[in-house]
Amino acid sequence: MIRVATLYPDLLGTYGDGGNALVLVERARRRGFDAELLEILVDDQLVSADVFLLGGGEDGPQRQAADLLRDSPLREVYESGAHVVAVCAGLQILGTTFVIEGDHQYEGLGLVDVKTTRGAKRSVGELAVSVDDEILVGFENHGGESHLGKDVEPLGAVLRGRGNDGRVDGFRAARLWATYAHGPVLAMNPWFADVVLASVLQRELAVLPSVADQLHAQRLRALGL
Ligand code: GLN
Repeated sequence: MIRVATLYPDLLGTYGDGGNALVLVERARRRGFDAELLEILVDDQLVSADVFLLGGGEDGPQRQAADLLRDSPLREVYESGAHVVAVCAGLQILGTTFVIEGDHQYEGLGLVDVKTTRGAKRSVGELAVSVDDEILVGFENHGGESHLGKDVEPLGAVLRGRGNDGRVDGFRAARLWATYAHGPVLAMNPWFADVVLASVLQRELAVLPSVADQLHAQRLRALGL
């Protein structure tokens, strides 16, 4: 049985990123694995899970989510083996500091050496990122610009849009992936959902063809990729 937890969808649900949790659960179940979906809401205690998903959100809810997470055992749970997938506001919260609500700087969780400052202008639109031999597609809508510490590996190189800084998008570490791509990103990129799932289940997965593959191919064509 795997437990898939979506963290504070009542705060970080603005962009439909809660769909990422549904995709992981459904792709596990269709392959015959038991999977349970847990929604951790603002008034809930953070319970243990195999994978935690953090979505995007507006500045106020992002600050509130960061406050809750700083006081939660997420760091310990991650360090003792849980997986984390974070999108946009979630990505910023995992870093050391982020700037939102004008020029206010807040502490992140510091799971990864990443600082987010305010970009010169908002990044809005299509995002495509080259990740290993795959292409990740989605859309972005953020004011932040993220700067990776020298030992932090980006998720991939930006092909369309801006991602962190116009060059690279997101970051990855052991059992952890972060991106600026909404979509939900795991629905738009079934290959990425399976990278996460294979790591959570600790096994190679059989291919699982679905309409999501056709939609991904269609997106690549629309972007001329
Ligand atoms: N509030 C953050 C920003 O604008 C994150 C936005 C988002 O999650 N889409 O940078």
